[in-house]
Amino acid sequence: RRAAALAAAGRQGATADGTRIEVFANLGSLGDVAPALAQGAEGCGLLRTEFLFLDRADAPDEDEQAACYGGIARALEGRPLIVRLLDIGGDKPAPYLPIAAEENPALGLRGIRIGLARPEVLSTQLRAILRAASSGDIRIMVPMIARVEELRAVRQVLIAEAERLGVAVPQLGVMVETPAAAVMADLLAAECDFLSIGTNDLTQYTLAMDRGNPAVADGLDGLDPAVLRLVAQTCAGGSRVGKWVGVCGGLASDPLAVPLLVGLGVGELSAAPGQVAEIKATLAAVTDAGCAALARAALEAASAAEVRALALEMLREVG
Ligand code: PEP
Ligand code: MG
Repeated sequence: RRAAALAAAGRQGATADGTRIEVFANLGSLGDVAPALAQGAEGCGLLRTEFLFLDRADAPDEDEQAACYGGIARALEGRPLIVRLLDIGGDKPAPYLPIAAEENPALGLRGIRIGLARPEVLSTQLRAILRAASSGDIRIMVPMIARVEELRAVRQVLIAEAERLGVAVPQLGVMVETPAAAVMADLLAAECDFLSIGTNDLTQYTLAMDRGNPAVADGLDGLDPAVLRLVAQTCAGGSRVGKWVGVCGGLASDPLAVPLLVGLGVGELSAAPGQVAEIKATLAAVTDAGCAALARAALEAASAAEVRALALEMLREVG
């Protein structure tokens, strides 16, 4: 298995039939780039920019952000870099962005809701990303979208800042991590360049179980059929308007989930850096027809445990 993973690391991500599935890595800082590339990452499908903003007294200014994003883009040497806009709030507070105490922080001001409530935070980050864009293939992704209007509002600011700087408007994608975004995936996809499913939050919000609350978090499984039906709906929405759909949540790092996600129509997987080679090896071992059959069965299953058993059986068959 280790040998298969090592062999797969150097190849492009693809199923045994040659269907191309991009295998990217989730990055949290410049230091993550080298280990991800060593595993064969073909780009970054999720740069969590929070690392720049947390554990400090003042917000990073535009210059600091631009230098940081540019440095990561250069380290990726032309491979795609998908920069996620700031996703703080909820369980990730920052001292210089005071948010009034909330009874339900997971349902409160977090992710893009903060950027829209504090336009200077959003426009500063967008300008920094636009300035860094000459250093590589930089794309932008918006967290916690629940409504089409939010995407439109972000695009408006992006276009205004790009015009001001005299640069091209980069690709803009939406994270699908609320049930609303999954259900509205076709309309969202029509107005953006790609969708990337955040299965951690999508699972929390679909099952109404707080991912940070130990009393319920143990029961959370992204392979719950309710989540998978939303993944299927998201893929159908993307494909209706010709946009690719990826997964950047924890499911993309779970080899058991990989054939299932591919069978549901996912075309890009962004995994933890240490899992990239293993994910590529799993892809290389499965057929398109096998993935499709597994997905059909999983969509009829009644529990995550049933789905796991089906996926395990399929992976055992392919060795
Ligand atoms: C997710 O919710 O699946 C995701 C990738 O974002 P985060 O884990 O950073 O909330
Ligand atoms: Mg999330």
